[in-house]
Amino acid sequence: MPGIYLHIPFCDTKCIYCDFYSITNHSKKNEFLAAIKKEIVSRSFELKDRKFDSIFFGGGTPSLLSREEFTSIFDTLYSHYNISTDSEITIESNPGTLDRNKLDEFRKLPLNRISFGVQSFIDEELKFLTRIHSANEAIESITNAKEAGFENINLDLIFALPEQSMESWKYNLEQAVKLNTTHISAYSLIFEKGTVLYSMRDKGEVNSADIELEQDMYEYTMEFLESAGYRQYEISNYAKPGFECRHNLKYWTLEEYISFGPSASSYIGNKRWTNVKNIGRYIDMVESGKHAADFVETIDESTSITEHIMLGLRSRGIVFDDFYNKHNIDFEKTYSAPIQSLLNDGYAVKNNSTLKLTRKGYAVCDEIVATLF
Ligand code: SF4
Repeated sequence: MPGIYLHIPFCDTKCIYCDFYSITNHSKKNEFLAAIKKEIVSRSFELKDRKFDSIFFGGGTPSLLSREEFTSIFDTLYSHYNISTDSEITIESNPGTLDRNKLDEFRKLPLNRISFGVQSFIDEELKFLTRIHSANEAIESITNAKEAGFENINLDLIFALPEQSMESWKYNLEQAVKLNTTHISAYSLIFEKGTVLYSMRDKGEVNSADIELEQDMYEYTMEFLESAGYRQYEISNYAKPGFECRHNLKYWTLEEYISFGPSASSYIGNKRWTNVKNIGRYIDMVESGKHAADFVETIDESTSITEHIMLGLRSRGIVFDDFYNKHNIDFEKTYSAPIQSLLNDGYAVKNNSTLKLTRKGYAVCDEIVATLF
C-alpha cells in the first residue's frame, strides 16, 4: 500500500551538517498550514482508488507543531484519503522541543511511532553538531515518550564525526541500546555541499574522519546492534523483530508515496516529482491552484530496473519473484555473472527466493552497485 509524507520545514536553529529544507523563521507558519491542507485536498482526487497504510511527519522539526495544528492536518487527511486503521503514523522530533506534557498531548493524536534525532550521547559532540539539546535531555525525552505510551520508538545517531574516537562511538551505541528502543538508525556524518560543515572543512577548520576508522565504526555498529537484538534491514537501519519502519521501506522497495510540503518528493505511477524548496513560493503556488512541483520526471523501465537493484541491495535484498513481476526479467539468469562474483567474495548470500548482501557486502554496497550492476 502507498504511504503519505508531510514535510514540516520549521526548526529552532539550523544544525551545521543539515541539508534538509528547514527554516528558523516561523512567521509564515499559519499560511504554511493552510497551504499544506490545501495541497492535501488538491491531490486527493487523483488518488481516490488508493488505500494508504503509513503517514510520516518529517522535516524540519514536526514536533514544534501543537496538538491542535496536528489535529487539523489529520482531519484533512482522514476526510480526503482512504487510510488503513492499522497505519504506522510517525512523527520526527527533536528532543529539545518535547516535554512530558507535549508527549501526552501527542499520544492523544493518531501518532503511534516517534523518531528522535538524538545523534550523540556526548554533550561535546552535540555541541559540535549544534544540536539544541543535551544528552540527558535526549534520554529524558525518550523515557517520557515511553511513559506517555509510545511503544514504537526510533533514535537516530551519527558517527564518524571529526576527532571522534572508536571509544566514544562505542559509548554512544551502548547508551542507545540501554534505552531499549524498537529501532535505531545510525548514519555516518556526510559533508553535504551548501552546509556550514562543508565550508568549515573547506576553510580547514575541521577534517573528515579517517576512512578506515569510519569503516571500523560501521562494522562495529552492525555487529554490536545485531548482538543486542536489532536486525539490520537497510544499510543504516536496525530494528527489533517486527519494528522495521513501514514507511521508509516504501522508499527502498519502490512502493508509491504521496508527499506534501516544500521540498517533499512523491512517487506515483511512473512519475516522480519534488516540490519547490522555498516556503514563500510553495504557499503562492498552492494558493493559486498550481501544482507545487519544481520538477517532474518520468521513470522509464531502465531507471526503474537500476533503482530496484540499488535499493534492493541497500535494504532487504532482491526478491526474484518481485523483480520478475515488476520488470518481466529473470534476475538470477540475467545477472548470473555479478551474482556469482558477489557470492564467491562473500559479499552476498542467496537462497531460492532472494539475493541479499552480507555485512561485508553492506560495507561496500555503493561500489557493488556501481561496478557490478
Ligand atoms: S533539527 Fe533536524 S531538520 Fe532541523 S536543522 Fe537540525 S538536523 Fe536539520
